[in-house]
Amino acid sequence: MNTYSFMSEELARLEAKGNLRVLPQTVHEGRYITMDGRRMLNLSSNDYLGLAADIALRSEFLACITPETFLPSASSSRLLTGNFPVFEQLEQELARLYGTEAALTFGSGYHANSGILPAVADSHTLILADKLVHASLIDGIRLSGADCIRFKHNDMNQLERLLQQRSTTYRRTLIVTESLFSMDGDEAPLQELVELKHRYPGILLYVDEAHAFGVRGKQGLGCAEEAGCLPDIDFLVGTFGKAAASAGAFVVCNHTVRNYLVNRMRPFIFTTALPPVVAAWTLFVLCRLPDMTLRRNHLAALFATLRQALADMRQSCPSTSHIIPIIEGDSRDATRRARLLQRQGFYVLPVRPPTVPEGTSRIRISLTADMTMEEMAQLLDALSTPA
Ligand code: PMP
Repeated sequence: MNTYSFMSEELARLEAKGNLRVLPQTVHEGRYITMDGRRMLNLSSNDYLGLAADIALRSEFLACITPETFLPSASSSRLLTGNFPVFEQLEQELARLYGTEAALTFGSGYHANSGILPAVADSHTLILADKLVHASLIDGIRLSGADCIRFKHNDMNQLERLLQQRSTTYRRTLIVTESLFSMDGDEAPLQELVELKHRYPGILLYVDEAHAFGVRGKQGLGCAEEAGCLPDIDFLVGTFGKAAASAGAFVVCNHTVRNYLVNRMRPFIFTTALPPVVAAWTLFVLCRLPDMTLRRNHLAALFATLRQALADMRQSCPSTSHIIPIIEGDSRDATRRARLLQRQGFYVLPVRPPTVPEGTSRIRISLTADMTMEEMAQLLDALSTPA
């Protein structure tokens, strides 16, 4: 028997269900993407504020960089020789903005979620996680060895029942959620989560703000800033690879948590630090984020227009944000719909299992602040064309 036959068989199964993934061959030109000779407006990126496509911003940054300060590699883990001052500056700026004692940065959001949870949770810990949390959080939970119960998406009654019935037998309980969910674009009820956390002893609250950081809140700090509950979140994680147009992630926390993670978090300890030039760019963007209100407001206006149009088309839409799923159900229908929109000049992609639950395949529109209202009008025309 061929050694690889288990793989070819699985690939054939995926293909038969319309779930086979292939890497798209794309060429980027700012807000546009070209594929198979077709130039399309990119509605699939996480460049929510349009900063990754902003040449003026990049030019401004490059003007401060010299061959001496362009540091393409940290050449080591931060615990060895890789702790360049820019990492500490970035962390101090994050702590200042969030009003926390400290912050710690990581190579990616995947590193953050798959590393913090195993560092702080063990077999004496109960993790209560929203059913729809991101794969990186699920992997962190699995690696932690903690007992985990997934509560129904945003179901605070079920969460409270679990806290009452189950949490007392564990040393500590962690509630894990995203603030803005990446596949449905809806939000966790942060204030209710905070109330629950305070109602029961020994509860820690972990919130992944990957899709809200930069976009939500007066200063762009995320949904917790908007909800006025920043001090109530024990582990607030954000990522730099989306609205901040960079790479990496962070947690804002107190000194004890920071020192503990530096000693116990494996994806922090056993990896080469991000290139210092990347941290320098992140810091450059971070310092400007609080003033990007116009971009945030325009993004909100684009969303309001699209949501209203979907309501007029009687298309159900769980989203309350710039991430808008249009649920098709069957993977092949989602793929067909995405292709149709691509032919009309909009680069949207189908999202299929295992990224989303079976039977909820969808196209996912990701709005960015550099989209014009004229382009929105064209998108609405395209969306009203029957698939
Ligand atoms: N958290 C959430 C909610 C995400 O959607 C993602 C990635 N899309 C991550 C974490 C991982 O972040 P990164 O891409 O920086 O690894």
